[in-house]
Amino acid sequence: MNSKYKAVIGLEMHCEMKSNAKVFSSSKNSYSEIPNIHVNEVDMAFPGILPTVNKECVRKALLMAQAIGCKTPEYMYFDRKNYYYPDLPKGYQITQMHSPVGVNGCVTIDVLDKEKKVYIHDIHLEEDSASMEHFSDASLINYNRAGVPLLELVTEPCLESAEEAVAFLEEMRRIYQYLDVSDADTKKGQIRCDVNVSIMDKDSNELGTKVEVKNVNSFGNVYETINYEIERQSKLKDEGRYDEVEQETRRFDEESGTTIRMRSKADAIDYKYFVEPNLPKYKISQEWLEEIKKSITMLPRDRKLKYVNEYGLSLYDANIIIKNKEYLPTSDYVSPFLDQMSKFTDNFTVQVKLPTQITTTAESDDVTYNRVWIQAILPEKYCIENHDEVYGLVYGLDVRTPVYKVYRGMLNRACTNLCVFDPSWMEVNEIKPGENFIYRITALMEKVSHFEATIKKMKNTVLSSDVEERHNRLGNWIEKCVLEEYTGTG
Ligand code: ADP
Ligand code: MG
Repeated sequence: MNSKYKAVIGLEMHCEMKSNAKVFSSSKNSYSEIPNIHVNEVDMAFPGILPTVNKECVRKALLMAQAIGCKTPEYMYFDRKNYYYPDLPKGYQITQMHSPVGVNGCVTIDVLDKEKKVYIHDIHLEEDSASMEHFSDASLINYNRAGVPLLELVTEPCLESAEEAVAFLEEMRRIYQYLDVSDADTKKGQIRCDVNVSIMDKDSNELGTKVEVKNVNSFGNVYETINYEIERQSKLKDEGRYDEVEQETRRFDEESGTTIRMRSKADAIDYKYFVEPNLPKYKISQEWLEEIKKSITMLPRDRKLKYVNEYGLSLYDANIIIKNKEYLPTSDYVSPFLDQMSKFTDNFTVQVKLPTQITTTAESDDVTYNRVWIQAILPEKYCIENHDEVYGLVYGLDVRTPVYKVYRGMLNRACTNLCVFDPSWMEVNEIKPGENFIYRITALMEKVSHFEATIKKMKNTVLSSDVEERHNRLGNWIEKCVLEEYTGTG
């Protein structure tokens, strides 16, 4: 991007929720390849129909609102957004405009290992429209999607790059999945975004003119949309034609990787919002809110931080484990295990290997996501070859003397016995918690204390003596170690 400008991005993320039934009718909320099978008279807007609110959807909406730190309103009610389009049989959409289920939230994300706070303007519950397929001589309407519960999340214009926008969407997708609010599957069209982009001078505080790109359906396309718009707007600004950047609605064209103008903001539809009269306003009880709040399980980023900070996993491993819902069983399986581990000692590094990292074809067929391998590694100081104190003693000798060389060789051999480095991988699933892995850890810990005791003994023996004495004592000690190595005694 042209370094004179900075980009400002705001996202409107629509996510289809998972639920037993649609949000205002009793027909099934389920993805199907067969069109028009999950439809009833409410979805089709037959005369005289009345909507009823699906409590499960409200609960999940409140759950999401709280998980992203939003304030929730005292009363729940809906608004009518009026417009006509063939995929909207009622001629209006039931949504929330005046009092969304959550406002003023904040989600922390990591972008290239830097922390970023993304401010949420609001999150609201609404119904999806039907879907349409266009052919040369006809268009077909599929009402399966009509009335599917949708959560729309609107960010403040606080994102600054395509990378940040995608990192945010990925974090949100994980939260939706972890809380079981949605499968958040972009391949099934469950997430769609409106992407708002503007640019401004680097040293300015004045927001530029924003362009809205509607209905972008994959994270990859969000990324391309943003970068294309930044470039297009920067070029116009460079050429002194910034007045041509208009408040308008565009769409992303996948084939050309560009955005195409649809309509100007001046032609914006007046939706004539008003409170939906067919759905009574009702109070959200404090007890219910509390109950919902309690059911928020640990969110993916918190898990990641826990794995890194408490269990000493590498950021790379932690990122893999929390990556998506499929790994959740792994994550749940590994957590109590690591908890147990972390009690033993601070000395370990724990490494985790997941099925994706196992490349052998024999394995890959029956890979399930809750198979995971784990390894406890002791720091190198427990390997005598890296033990400064030991070498300090040898180096204390005159390196020119032939005896030094002999000592080094003997010492190395003697010390292989002392090395407690244990790099073998164990498969977690084959370990019953509390059994062999823990047993091995205990054995390792015994070796560690043996190691430390030996080093101490050796220091006591060898120090406190003059050089000649030291030669003798060190020699004796090494001989003893070699003897132990051969005879297994000691
Ligand atoms: P509108 O009235 O056009 O719907 P809103 O103020 O409601 O605009 O904002 C809609 C979305 O556009 C939000 O996600 C918001 O963050 C984003 N947005 C607002 N102003 C800008 C801007 N100058 N640049 C980029 N995005 C913006
Ligand atoms: Mg708006």
